[in-house]
Amino acid sequence: MQNQRSSSSLENSIALRAGGLLTIDLAALQSNYRRLCDEIGQNVACAAAVKADAYGLGVVRVGPALAEAGARRFFVAHFDEALTLKSALAAQTAVDVHTGCEIFVLNGLIAAPAEEFVAHNIRPVLNSLGEVDSWQGLARAKNQILPAALHVDTGMCRLGLPDSEYQALQSSKEQLEGIDLRVIMSHLACADMPDHPLNRQQLTAFQQIRAAFPDTPASFANSSGIFLGPEYHFDVARPGVALYGINPLPGHVNPMRQVVRLKGKILQLREIDASQSVGYGAAYQAAGPMRIATVAVGYADGYLRALSDRGHAWIGDRRVNVVGRVSMDLLALDVTAIPADDVVPGTFVDLFDPEIGADALAAEAGTIGYEILTALGQRYHREYLGT
Ligand SMILES: *Cc1c(COP(=O)(O)O)cnc(C)c1O
Repeated sequence: MQNQRSSSSLENSIALRAGGLLTIDLAALQSNYRRLCDEIGQNVACAAAVKADAYGLGVVRVGPALAEAGARRFFVAHFDEALTLKSALAAQTAVDVHTGCEIFVLNGLIAAPAEEFVAHNIRPVLNSLGEVDSWQGLARAKNQILPAALHVDTGMCRLGLPDSEYQALQSSKEQLEGIDLRVIMSHLACADMPDHPLNRQQLTAFQQIRAAFPDTPASFANSSGIFLGPEYHFDVARPGVALYGINPLPGHVNPMRQVVRLKGKILQLREIDASQSVGYGAAYQAAGPMRIATVAVGYADGYLRALSDRGHAWIGDRRVNVVGRVSMDLLALDVTAIPADDVVPGTFVDLFDPEIGADALAAEAGTIGYEILTALGQRYHREYLGT
């Protein structure tokens, strides 16, 4: 009891020392995972994209929570992200869960020496004929069948075999001997724009690819792709951002639950008048008497400088404006209309719209929810709810 009390008061004091609180609701995350599983139906598997530290939310907690909800295939960008995820799964999930998990590295074989992939049982996503060749060479040298995913580009022109390389591979499939193809995949460029003609073009190209590899699980849809309809689902969906509560259907009601809440701490209150300005560059000039609250969150915390004079915060259900430039560690709010008792030093204000979440802030910053989440810095006190 004694220990428990002291560790929770230590937690509290850390929370009080931080300039902001980042709350990540793992129960909402798991519910989003199940929501996407319902959308694709039981014949389609749901993998999870957990690159960039699970979109900034902390892969060490997010990965095991998703595995518990049923995810068995995970996609990361970098090799070290795979190692971090692997040890988190081993430490936090039952043996039958983590031994059943596969981790794929989207950046491909170039992300680490090929031997490292084998040593750690991490699967490369082969992005070129050269990588196919190297992986096959290693399989031969070791006299082993080595697992990998194959990424074919159908219109993104970013990673994956370009069409010419794909055609060459398809006409001489012995290039894949010794490789256990766990997934064949492609990635949509415009999935969040359902009417964009590139979606259909990519779909047609990928249907042909799937037909040429009928025995390999095919994976095509990201979060928004799932909502383009069953034709886009194939065998394995690969959502990322929707798991974290970002709306996969821009312009429509968000089908996902909010996962992330961000609060910033008020440090000081200041009464000013029309002779004064707020912040760097004197960019905000007071029009009359007003009260300013200075909050301990700035662009070093991922509260983008583009939100200067544009962002909003919530005190209870009252919305207030960010005024002046966002600085590295601080931002200023106009709290003139808020009763003085509700805004004292130490008060926490909501920095994400309590209903809409990071998407609203993203719109104000002229960016997307992905960027808001992945920019969240390391200085917040992080609290994980649920599970
Ligand atoms: C990031 C990524 C995903 C997940 O995309 P979301 O839009 O976040 O759902 C899927 N596949 C690939 C190749 C990716 O890079």
